Amino acid sequence: ALSGKTALITGSTSGIGLAIAKGLAAQGAKIMLNGFGDAAEIEKVRADLAAEHGVEVRFNGADLTKADQIEALFKDINDNLGGVDILVNNAGIQFVSPIEDFPPEKWDAIIGLNLTSSFHTTRLAFPGMKAKKWGRIVNIASAHALVASPFKSAYVAAKHGLLGFTKTIALEGATFGITANAICPGYVHTPLVDKQIPDTMKARNMTREQVIKDVILAAQPTGEFVTVEDITALAVFLCSDAGKAINGAPLSIDGGWVAQ
Ligand code: NAD
Repeated sequence: ALSGKTALITGSTSGIGLAIAKGLAAQGAKIMLNGFGDAAEIEKVRADLAAEHGVEVRFNGADLTKADQIEALFKDINDNLGGVDILVNNAGIQFVSPIEDFPPEKWDAIIGLNLTSSFHTTRLAFPGMKAKKWGRIVNIASAHALVASPFKSAYVAAKHGLLGFTKTIALEGATFGITANAICPGYVHTPLVDKQIPDTMKARNMTREQVIKDVILAAQPTGEFVTVEDITALAVFLCSDAGKAINGAPLSIDGGWVAQ
């Protein structure tokens, strides 16, 4: 259904981004992977994805906190994959600390990756989408784009900002066949969540089990993690023709978290 389209999924060497890349490749889209990781493992993922779905898959390891590397990434896509039709802004990091101890360099890194990188990718993708009168921008925000939790000041600020940015772009693209939406997941068991458990244990003086049960899963009325497959199915729907009227929306997929 997406054959002839090219998708850039940022942060797609792991977790949610990798799952979405697989889901879009299964629909026939050409794929640009991005992210950090072991070069041999990434090459295996790239080659397997291309072979399984018969689509072109490239990898570019641009560090998205650097505007010049994002520009080089777009040159790579424009030269080799015919531009970006589907932009999934997914790369993100987390840091957990009380505000008085929050390292300023962590604040800058989180705002830089989780918010500013989407500004750069979107401004570079927009001209091509406008010219083709078709585009899909899927921003992976968070339940933390809608509500807060203590000790996540930079992340919550960046994700709220990303939702505001999404709404603005939705208005700018509306008459050009471009949609922009924000998927707002609850907790998904990926390396990003695993890595914050030790700091949350420290910040809240809890054991690992208490953090999983009383902090992470307590937020979700279902008592269960959201899965990367759940998120992928929603992202694929937004890219389909049936998703064309969904624009500027925060789409919660969180087991009921923000309903409380
Ligand atoms: P993850 O840690 O598994 O993956 C993050 C990806 O981003 C990796 O591919 C990593 O290499 C890449 N990345 C990190 N820094 C980068 C940089 N400077 N430049 C380019 N790529 C970089 O995390 P995940 O859980 O899959 O998170 C993906 C997105 O989903 C993030 O934006 C996150 O905030 C959001 N999210 C996650 C959850 C969750 O519970 N896991 C919930 C809501 C939202």
